[in-house]
Amino acid sequence: MSSDCLFCKIVAGSIPAKRVYEDELCLCFADIHPQAPTHLLMISKRHIGSLVEAGAEDAALLGHLLAKTAEVARGAGLERGYRVVINTGPNGGQTVDHLHLHLLGGRHMTWPPG
Ligand code: 5GP
Ligand code: ZN
Repeated sequence: MSSDCLFCKIVAGSIPAKRVYEDELCLCFADIHPQAPTHLLMISKRHIGSLVEAGAEDAALLGHLLAKTAEVARGAGLERGYRVVINTGPNGGQTVDHLHLHLLGGRHMTWPPG
């Protein structure tokens, strides 16, 4: 837990969030500013700042986050598809420094991203 991290505070429950899935390793909750009809964030409960900080020792955890995101998507009625995004660092558009996967669905996504 990083005491000044917004998403660590959501994990701890000191900042409320609409939780849709959690287990001992991860938490999935609704994004406060949804960019699509479905916009969820999947995070590790353990603080990792970004993908830049993730190493080989985190491979199982990263796989867990991805597999659970797919499981949540299956339960969210996104049969027509969805997009999973990991914004990383300033050029990647990351604004919260706690590794998170965006799950976006419910509308057609364009490519390339802006
Ligand atoms: P990033 O820009 O780092 O890829 O994504 C951060 C996401 O966190 C944004 O989509 C933003 O809307 C979301 N967010 C920021 N603050 C809060 C909050 O307090 N609660 C929730 N649920 N989402 C937040
Ligand atoms: Zn954190």
